[in-house]
Amino acid sequence: MDIQTLRAFEDNYIWLLRDGHRVVVVDPGDETPVLQYLADENASLAAILLTHHHGDHTGGVAGLLARHPVPVYGPAGEPIAGITVPLREGDTVDLPGFQIQLRVIDVPGHTRGHIAYYGVTQSQGVLFCGDTLFGCGCGRLFEGTAAQMWASLNKLTALPGDTRAYCAHEYTQSNLRFALALEPGNAALQARAAQVAQLRAGDRPTVPFTLAEELETNPFLRGAQAEVAAAAERHSGARLSGAEEVFAVLREWKNSYR
Ligand code: ZN
Ligand code: FE
Repeated sequence: MDIQTLRAFEDNYIWLLRDGHRVVVVDPGDETPVLQYLADENASLAAILLTHHHGDHTGGVAGLLARHPVPVYGPAGEPIAGITVPLREGDTVDLPGFQIQLRVIDVPGHTRGHIAYYGVTQSQGVLFCGDTLFGCGCGRLFEGTAAQMWASLNKLTALPGDTRAYCAHEYTQSNLRFALALEPGNAALQARAAQVAQLRAGDRPTVPFTLAEELETNPFLRGAQAEVAAAAERHSGARLSGAEEVFAVLREWKNSYR
């Protein structure tokens, strides 16, 4: 089984799990690139996986189902037309014929019912995290609270450090500017910024990344670091106690950071 990338819209990624000629698609916001891929590769669609209800993740479902009547897995807690297998925390997805079983993790915050999928393939973890964890960043709080998002991110980073995270947007480079402003002295962050600049200059994706890499460089996960906490305190003008409070300040600050 391997995992392939399709691009959609400005900066979305649609992930494909492929085993032989069979393909499972994650968050098809647009059916066009998926249908093109299936035609070019003479491949067949086996299932659709959805992380949350936003249109840039679900907009292609109807168009795919019109030609390929496949099972659609998605969050039980969100109003998404076409879901045939509603999923909750702890459910497992057995993709027939694929060498991977996926476990469902509830990750509310960006939306109320957002889910992520985690599985192990060739002894390495893979995580489809939608708009929850991004390279050096995290999703906006459209429906959930900072406390929910904080708990969700901690569930994801509790997975093995070598897990490769496949998020749904190419936001890493712009997130890095915020991260570097907070932690200019973080050597791992500087190294990542250089690597990301090189990838983007070649129009290559910075996704997937590993969870270990995120823990070393993603400021939203690093509120326990003195430098990050101090920056959040300067910004908020308040004394903050603990990484969760720092997270809440950073999430709010990032919304208006240019
Ligand atoms: Zn979204
Ligand atoms: Fe999105």
